[in-house]
Amino acid sequence: MYADVILPLPLHDLFTYAVPAEMQDKIGTGLRVVVPFGRKKYYTAIIKAIHNNAPEHIEVKEIHSLIDSHAVVNEQQLTLWEWISFYYLSPLGDVYKAALPSSMKPEDLLTRFTPKTETFIQINPGQDAATVAKLLGRAKKQQLLLDEINYYLSEKNGERVSKKTVSDFPGYSPSVLNGLLQKEILHTLSIETGRITSGIIATREPYPLNEHQQKALIDLNDCFKEKQTALLHGVTSSGKTEIYIHLILQFLKAGEQILYLLPEIALTTQLTQRLQAVFGDKIGIYHSRINENERTEIWQKMLSEDPYRIILGVRSSLFLPFRNLGLVIVDEEHETSYKQQEPAPRYHARDAAIMLAHFSKAKTVLGSATPSLESYYNAQCGKYGLVTLTERFNGVMMPHIQLENTRDLRRRKKMKSLLVPALIEEINSALENEEQVILFRNRRGFAPMIECSECAWTPRCSRCDVSLTYHKKGNELVCHYCNSHYRLPAACPSCHEKHLKPLGLGTEQLEEEVSHLFPGAVVARMDMDSTRGKDAYETIINDFQEKRVQILVGTQMLSKGLDFDNVRVVGIISADSLLNYPDFRSHERGFQLMTQAAGRSGRNNKQGIVIIQSADPTQPVYSYVTSNDYEAFFRMQLSERKQFNYPPFCRLIRIVIKHKEERKAEAASSLLAENLRESLHERLLGPNKPIVSRIQLYHIREILLKLEIGLSPQKVRDIIRKAESTLRSNADFKYVTLFYDADPL
Ligand code: ADP
Ligand code: ZN
Ligand code: ZN
Repeated sequence: MYADVILPLPLHDLFTYAVPAEMQDKIGTGLRVVVPFGRKKYYTAIIKAIHNNAPEHIEVKEIHSLIDSHAVVNEQQLTLWEWISFYYLSPLGDVYKAALPSSMKPEDLLTRFTPKTETFIQINPGQDAATVAKLLGRAKKQQLLLDEINYYLSEKNGERVSKKTVSDFPGYSPSVLNGLLQKEILHTLSIETGRITSGIIATREPYPLNEHQQKALIDLNDCFKEKQTALLHGVTSSGKTEIYIHLILQFLKAGEQILYLLPEIALTTQLTQRLQAVFGDKIGIYHSRINENERTEIWQKMLSEDPYRIILGVRSSLFLPFRNLGLVIVDEEHETSYKQQEPAPRYHARDAAIMLAHFSKAKTVLGSATPSLESYYNAQCGKYGLVTLTERFNGVMMPHIQLENTRDLRRRKKMKSLLVPALIEEINSALENEEQVILFRNRRGFAPMIECSECAWTPRCSRCDVSLTYHKKGNELVCHYCNSHYRLPAACPSCHEKHLKPLGLGTEQLEEEVSHLFPGAVVARMDMDSTRGKDAYETIINDFQEKRVQILVGTQMLSKGLDFDNVRVVGIISADSLLNYPDFRSHERGFQLMTQAAGRSGRNNKQGIVIIQSADPTQPVYSYVTSNDYEAFFRMQLSERKQFNYPPFCRLIRIVIKHKEERKAEAASSLLAENLRESLHERLLGPNKPIVSRIQLYHIREILLKLEIGLSPQKVRDIIRKAESTLRSNADFKYVTLFYDADPL
């Protein structure tokens, strides 16, 4: 008997091992085994298939040992892994690595998952009262402690108490407890406690839906009669989340599981509270800030007889072992953080979730106030159902959005700070009324650049082809590509003058300026730098929610679906920077970001005000944002995409070639392009040198494939594989780094 297994290595192929006789009746697909691979190395592999076909011409090794008695991965999951591997051109081994928590596939096979245990104290039932009295003798303190433990147990109506609790009883040295243990009047025992918090109790029923929400819910269910996927396009604060809650309830009643996907950890904080209030401990939370052992426990619970009914998580939660998934919710479906960029598999969690639902015969809801062009197009073509909500909950008005021309204000000497006068005025009035303010700037750090005002020298990263960002905290220069830190030189290394000046504006500087402008307000900042700690998100979000902070400054991290009820003013600083970068999606992104940011304001009865600071407010995208006209914006963008042949009218695959020697990156990319062009002809663009053409010492070249929708994905992938192997057969390019990015964002 033989088993084909997946190894946790960047390999496309399955590897075949012989099944030892004593293992043959215990083995099955989805079980983990330990296998030898390479020289003297052992790995945790997953069994993909079992058969009797002896491989030819190779010496077959034996499986070393079997880890599981039951499958940890089911058929649907394996099917999903294969689809991801195929579509995103990622080795199956990489998909396996991304899917399973690392403590479930130890490379060092000694560090297994260690369950968390706690020591408890119990009264030894084998000793009667007379024996105990004799054993205690004149040990007064021991008698007292024993009485106290007995009292504690009777109060709690329990049989045991944790050792920690007993140690915390005041007035006893550790020797007193040890004495009782030595005399065997007390026993200790170790109990696996588990790390997952359970016992969270639901505190409320779902809110009754208003008439618009109710209609949307009915419409969604109608869509599901004919279609697997529905897009819920509802303006910000229309109450989409409450509709999801009702939908979840409906699928729970049918006995099915629900996966609720969010694009960012920052969002899980608020939503966890909201969902737990209704569903209590039926929900499992799964994201990267949860430690490895907790992830393993959640995985194991999903395999148990009593799995979580609802999983709330970021993209990796779609890999969990669901048994009867009924519904997938992809909240804020337009968010680009659903796409994994690094490492492989470079999958889009929204699209992978739709496939997961397809394999599980489940339904999918995509929700957004600003749907991605792709999803809206799919809805218009009838591939997805479409449900629309145009009213904010409770009849709250959409925010008033005002454009302020900073170039003009500067010329008229009206700009006395980083904020335009109108924004300062609105902030002051909000603060007077005890209302809150959010300010966006999509660059972190103090200043995106430093320049010598004598000779125009600017510091650059030695490992990457980019200029460095100045961070005032720590007085250092940081590369935002490789995270290298450099000391800020005291003088210009080129002309030796002390004229180094910060250029441009980052969140750190904005926070400083705003603190000066509004000395009476508490200002906080939310960006990648301020949220590194384990509970940093919670702290910032809770402080703002509970009004300990009046002004929150941050990057786009702040625009994503957070629901604060007291924000009246939103300011978007340097809005042009959201649009002015060379990507066919830049305006779509800008529109989404500004609309979403605006949507954070005025969620509670009073109309919000949004001020957009732009040096070039004539760009058409601004008029769509101010008039809140998604439809018109969509039509305009779609016609551009059609004209220039971009998605959704074609599919893109980006090929990235990297090497430490620029010459080799150049030569390898030219040769690969040549190989591909033979079959793909004018569908291939490049190779090009990207704008940032060196990162972490690697020189980069890119090839872009523009593939018509009708072209068979299988055929394209065959062509790519063949071209790559031809390239690799050239000894010069055997170890060139090469990866693919399907549907790149
Ligand atoms: P969206 O997800 O569309 O942005 P939310 O679901 O967050 O909107 O709703 C906005 C606000 O309105 C939230 O504070 C929410 O609690 C409240 N809300 C929405 N629907 C209802 C309802 N049916 N009953 C009571 N409150 C609701
Ligand atoms: Zn760098
Ligand atoms: Zn200089």
